[in-house]
Amino acid sequence: MLKPGQMIGILGGGQLARMMALAAAPLGLKCHIYAPEGDNPAFDVAAAKTIAPYEDHAALERFARAVDVVTYEFENVPAKTAEILSSLVDVLPQPRALETTQDRLIEKRFIRDLGLAVPEFVAVDSSDSLSKAVAQLGRPSVLKTRRFGYDGKGQVIIKPETNLDEAWAGIGESPAILEQFIPFEREVSVIAARNVSGEVVTYDVCENRHAHHILAETTLPARISAMTEQAAKDAASRIGAALNYVGVFAVEFFVGGSGSEERLLVNEIAPRVHNSGHWTIDGAETSQFEQHIRAISGWPLGSVKRIGRIEMRNLIGAESDRWHDLVAEPGLHVHLYGKAESRAGRKMGHVTRVTI
Ligand code: AMP
Repeated sequence: MLKPGQMIGILGGGQLARMMALAAAPLGLKCHIYAPEGDNPAFDVAAAKTIAPYEDHAALERFARAVDVVTYEFENVPAKTAEILSSLVDVLPQPRALETTQDRLIEKRFIRDLGLAVPEFVAVDSSDSLSKAVAQLGRPSVLKTRRFGYDGKGQVIIKPETNLDEAWAGIGESPAILEQFIPFEREVSVIAARNVSGEVVTYDVCENRHAHHILAETTLPARISAMTEQAAKDAASRIGAALNYVGVFAVEFFVGGSGSEERLLVNEIAPRVHNSGHWTIDGAETSQFEQHIRAISGWPLGSVKRIGRIEMRNLIGAESDRWHDLVAEPGLHVHLYGKAESRAGRKMGHVTRVTI
């Protein structure tokens, strides 16, 4: 168990690490951020920083010795990095969660083996196997690289007119899966936390709207039945227990049908704090960031009670240029990530409105 004054190491220096460090401070815990060269907004709010590549053994060893636990803000932590660190210090969530969630094929099989519904999928490792998979699942379907996909990157929709050789080339001929296309009613997610003693808490289900494959808006309560809400929370608890997970994670779902036909399919697991949980900073009794810090510190988890109706909107690219109007809006909680440069598609901040 960590004590106030101790140091949490965080791999990654983006906005998620920044918000974790901001949540650690009131609990008397310090953060040391490890990130490669670049624009690292977490550096502004951390007690210590290391700028080095994730493959730098000597820097990783120094970092491990300087901290009391290591966590991360992104799931693509190289396996070797996690291995070096975990030989010297606790890494939480455990590297096993990374192995399962870094690869869409392993992840989908893991979820299906838990008895949870996922879109039908087929492994694809050549142009020939892509043709066979398309013959099996039909069109439209979605081709996704097994690794390193995020915000719609490494994905191609196979439409009636799509040329399969071009689609295969389009994802860099990387090992992939072909997934059934789901004409979903809406997308929802559950933010959950599990601590060392196996206690699990789940926040209310978030309804998410994406634009250009990037999360645009999260609203609560989600427009789903009470039964579906409970089923989503139960699915998250089961996933957390099966991974023996410690920390905050998110489970994303597609919701198909409506009324008594409403049905959940798991899309993916994010082994970290998640953009659809940013509303918890202003709209829940404990934020997902504080919850993560509590879980990896071996502390009791906090209340996940939601305190009102929620609208969280991301500020993407130039949208944050309106910061002056936003801070002038009564009751709007404005979060700016302090990024040096605004680029199209870049998450620059978010705003949350809580209506009680
Ligand atoms: P992912 O990276 O798998 O979360 O996919 C990014 C987004 O693409 C999702 O949030 C959906 O909006 C869309 N998408 C992904 N997979 C499918 C699918 N099988 N059917 C329909 N839309 C999908």
